[in-house]
Amino acid sequence: MNSKDKISLQDVLIARKRIAPHIHHIPLMSSASLSRISGSNIFLKLENEQVTKSFKVRGAANRLLKLSANERRRGVVTVSTGNHGKAVATMAQRLGINATVCVPELVLQHKIDAMRDIGAEILTHGADQEEAEEHAMSLANDKGMTYISPFDDLDIIAGQGTIALEILEDLPEVDHVLVPLSGGGLLSGIALAMKAVNRSIRTTGVSMDRSPVMYWSIRAGRPIQMPELPSLADSLIGGIGLGNRYTFDLIRTYMDDACLVSEDQMADAMVHMLVNERLVVEGGGSVALAAPLNDRVLNLGKNVVVVVSGGNADMPTLLKLVRQRSSIVTSSAH
Ligand SMILES: *Cc1c(COP(=O)(O)O)cnc(C)c1O
Repeated sequence: MNSKDKISLQDVLIARKRIAPHIHHIPLMSSASLSRISGSNIFLKLENEQVTKSFKVRGAANRLLKLSANERRRGVVTVSTGNHGKAVATMAQRLGINATVCVPELVLQHKIDAMRDIGAEILTHGADQEEAEEHAMSLANDKGMTYISPFDDLDIIAGQGTIALEILEDLPEVDHVLVPLSGGGLLSGIALAMKAVNRSIRTTGVSMDRSPVMYWSIRAGRPIQMPELPSLADSLIGGIGLGNRYTFDLIRTYMDDACLVSEDQMADAMVHMLVNERLVVEGGGSVALAAPLNDRVLNLGKNVVVVVSGGNADMPTLLKLVRQRSSIVTSSAH
């Protein structure tokens, strides 16, 4: 059975009802500066302003709300470079569930502090996401806790897909949605819901050019592994798993195009957003903005929605980028 037979628009509609009390529906915001530069009507889906400052709370809410009473008592364990962990910790706290988050050593301290503040137990383990994940899964096994995958889980995918329903309500004439792509939970959910409503709405996945694992896996026709490299988009670092169960198939089935952006292009996009829109966007949240800013997208179309996926930017990094880009700051500030 293909992954596409295991999840449908119906699952996304049910997820939306289930998570509604826990998330914000932030209306699309049109961006004059991006529209001018790209020549299309660009609208922003501002998940950087979402509860926990990333869309990850949608999937986490849907997954945790579906746990049985017994599973809730035993607690949950997950792996995260920050945003998924923060989302799981937040929902666990609201529902009175114990949460443990395994993080690789690469994770930024401010993201660890945020998760600990919310009440999660943090375990630093392994050089990369994959080692931390193995640790989380063996913990789940040993202690009878439920493992919550950051992306390769049907309830997580359905939760992230609720973004598509909000976009369709706010802008029924949408032609094209640009979506950050790492493990593919976000894009799987959005693309499957969009295609179910209107097959002519296109989705493009945007990844960083440093180890874009899903991008090359799709081209290879099977999940592949790549070394994890440091990036400004820390929330996009990590593989898709050689034993990927759902997102690889779903992306292959529903995504129309993919493109890559560089570290510099992300940094420019972050500063652009701060200066022109007065919005804080983190590296991983900036990739789909960087694509139209640098003419990286095939057939952009008329009405385009850019998913701004997260706002958990590290302040020292953001200040450094702003200082390095004084030309952007002085040429466009008003
Ligand atoms: C997790 C995350 C992504 C990528 O989502 P996937 O489901 O792994 O593709 C993009 N942006 C931000 C800010 C994230 O936290």
